[in-house]
Amino acid sequence: MTINLETPKKFKVLSEQAHTVAQEVLRPISRHYDRAEHAYPKELDMLASLIDGMNESGSTLGAGASGVKSSASTETQNRNGSNMSSAIGVMETCWGDVGLVLSMPRQGLGNAAIAAVANEEQLLRYEGSWAAMAITEPESGSDSASIRTTAILDGDEYVLNGEKIYVTAGERAELVVVWATLDPKQGRAAIKSFVVERSNPGMILDRLEHKLGIRASDTAAFRLENCRVPKEDLLGTPEIDMKRSFAGVMKTFDNTRPLVAAMAVGVAQASLDRTRELLTEAGIEVDYDRPAHSQPAAAAALLELESDLEAARLMMMEAAWMADNSKPNSLHASMSKAKAGRVGVDISLRCVELCGSLGYDESELLEKWARDAKILDIFEGTQQIQQLIIARLLLKKTSADLR
Ligand SMILES: Cc1cc2nc3c(=O)[nH]c(=O)nc-3n(C[C@H](O)[C@H](O)[C@H](O)COP(=O)(O)OP(=O)(O)OC[C@H]3O[C@@H](n4cnc5c(N)ncnc54)[C@H](O)[C@@H]3O)c2cc1C
Repeated sequence: MTINLETPKKFKVLSEQAHTVAQEVLRPISRHYDRAEHAYPKELDMLASLIDGMNESGSTLGAGASGVKSSASTETQNRNGSNMSSAIGVMETCWGDVGLVLSMPRQGLGNAAIAAVANEEQLLRYEGSWAAMAITEPESGSDSASIRTTAILDGDEYVLNGEKIYVTAGERAELVVVWATLDPKQGRAAIKSFVVERSNPGMILDRLEHKLGIRASDTAAFRLENCRVPKEDLLGTPEIDMKRSFAGVMKTFDNTRPLVAAMAVGVAQASLDRTRELLTEAGIEVDYDRPAHSQPAAAAALLELESDLEAARLMMMEAAWMADNSKPNSLHASMSKAKAGRVGVDISLRCVELCGSLGYDESELLEKWARDAKILDIFEGTQQIQQLIIARLLLKKTSADLR
């Protein structure tokens, strides 16, 4: 099969629309919501309705996490589906503002979790909702198998107890996908995800965090106190399958990691584009027809950063393409996130450096993008954790062998 490295033709319109939204809607309010941390970006309501309208009319697909799906297709034909379109939409809108994209109604990371794990009936029931995702706890971060939140069946309901921290969109979303264990003694196989309504009285908002970057996005901490959820709101199957172990809930990451990689690519592309403009204004033109070493140092540096970004972009597209074509993509999802997370941070900081005081000054968004990029190398699995997963998969080691 030949590989076409261009953006699929059928997504050209989507890509252009998402870029226009980034330019015309997100960029103009970007600095405002960076400063007004915890203020609700009301402009996004209108934008979300517009995206819903476009989805309903079939003219485009989701520009966010709601579009991703676990493909059950058995087609042998090469296809570019909803994972690819979501990745492209996210990449382009994050060129505008990643914090605002993370606050976009109905496009939460929990939506991707639902798409990855839910059964058909649940997919229909939650369609059109906005879902956040709550895995992290005070005593459980990178090692997500160590979560302590419990879910005990009581009649027709599960009763959830525990604490969840750092929940992106946790205050604003309508639903929160909560990871909890059915039986702590049975280890990772007993961990399941539950859809909890934000209005559930057993889910108590403790606080919102103050952060380095993505300040337009709310990050919430919750207590779950005898939080009762109907048993139909356990995603997937309640059986504890020791053979498949963690596979059920972990499928979530195969869908979400390429999207976080797409976010990092979008932010880094924004930094590079603005740096190129500022260099041009300073009289330094990048010449794409001459070797880098024969050009001014700043132009050579920009060329090097652009090639790093292109590698990250292609790895991200490959991971999304594999998901669309029913190819197991855990390795590629982690590789794309590791690469894009790292180069996103490197590129945005190097752009600050290349532009000197302008890069550091709040009159430009470059300093903001350098702050925003860091989280993309942390959440959905840190750089170190992605490398650990990649090593395990390549060396065929278990999580007990290599930790
Ligand atoms: C702004 C923000 C938004 C977030 N949004 C969400 C969300 O929506 N939902 C959610 O569930 N979580 C969310 N998180 C939490 C995030 O996923 C965790 O912070 C992340 O998984 C790391 O966990 P930790 O902070 O406990 O760090 P730790 O796990 O304590 O790690 C600390 C350091 O040690 C390294 N480390 C840990 N274990 C190993 C190892 N075995 N080998 C090598 N190095 C290792 C890590 O890479 C890291 O550098 C968010 C966090 C932030 C800051």
